[in-house]
Amino acid sequence: MAEIRPQPGIMSIAPYQGGESRVEGVEDVVKLSSNENPYGPSDKAREAFVRTVHRMHRYPPTDHAALRAAIGRVHGLDSGRVICGAGSDEIITFLCQAYAGPGDEVIHTEHGFSMYRISALAAGAIPVEVPECDRVVDVETILAACNFRTRLVFIANPANPTGTMIGLDKVAYLADRLPKQTILVLDGAYAEYVDGYDGGAALVDARGNMVMTRTFSKLYGLGGLRVGWGYGPQAIIDVLNRVRGPFNLGQAQLETAEAALLDRDYAQKCRADNARMRNWLAEALAEAGVPSDPSSANFILARFSSPDEAEACDSFLKSEGLIVRRVAGYNLPACLRITVGDEASCRRVAHAVRAFKGRRG
Ligand SMILES: *Cc1c(COP(=O)(O)O)cnc(C)c1O
Repeated sequence: MAEIRPQPGIMSIAPYQGGESRVEGVEDVVKLSSNENPYGPSDKAREAFVRTVHRMHRYPPTDHAALRAAIGRVHGLDSGRVICGAGSDEIITFLCQAYAGPGDEVIHTEHGFSMYRISALAAGAIPVEVPECDRVVDVETILAACNFRTRLVFIANPANPTGTMIGLDKVAYLADRLPKQTILVLDGAYAEYVDGYDGGAALVDARGNMVMTRTFSKLYGLGGLRVGWGYGPQAIIDVLNRVRGPFNLGQAQLETAEAALLDRDYAQKCRADNARMRNWLAEALAEAGVPSDPSSANFILARFSSPDEAEACDSFLKSEGLIVRRVAGYNLPACLRITVGDEASCRRVAHAVRAFKGRRG
């Protein structure tokens, strides 16, 4: 019988849970739940955004040429193989839409970013979850899970929510052993936080089966604007451009992101501040009896002795106006992910965790 129903797979999608931003009855909250830059974007980006106000009646360019050229210059990449999207989420969506359909498999890891699974299901494909090894991506386990149905493999490096990273030698090893029909997507949402790391760009240049994704949402402080990009072999980028809507990015997005990218001093300052406060916070938490893996990103995955303790600490932090992220949905029920804030926020969160631990003896 004919009936109105969505495509197969769509009803299996659990809607994405964003970081919370409010606590009932608490005025002075600090949001450390979404890995945002605590200082916001560069002043040059703010000024560029304001300037675009006069052109709101005009359609934006469809080819993103100026932003792609700036990305090419700053990162030393061929701008003809850059594609821009409404956040890197949109690049992930394009990849699944273009390369994975009913019967196809899309691999993500045990603690991998939730958008991989959501986008695979939205495309009608089958998400396949593979284990990690002590919260680190394991390339051998991924290879063992590959078969003739595998179309995409998603890895974030550094990873979210673990903050751990694997070496580019392991990434290359994986890329070179994948089945012929499989694309390796290296999600570099946090690549900017790692000094001297190219996000895998050189590996992309050297082979035909890798795509790198990047974002303006984290280091550049533009999460609310929605701009990300991808870099890959020409043949794949040409395919993605066919499913991309011509006006997927507005003028304000394009020009603000470009100005943010070109302010290299500000980016460097944010990177250095993050590293300093991240190391300070990790040490303060460890002294309070809360260990974490060395993080390469702008957050720390704090490990508690049990899911109950993590939940109790989360409630206590909330009552103190500190919002962090529960990550039970990422198979990490005994952990809390804490974004590295400015110095005052880091001190507040360290103080509160210490008080929580002391209270429990
Ligand atoms: C934040 C994040 C993204 C980026 O999302 P945008 O859509 O660019 O805001 C992508 N991947 C991972 C792993 C992330 O944590």
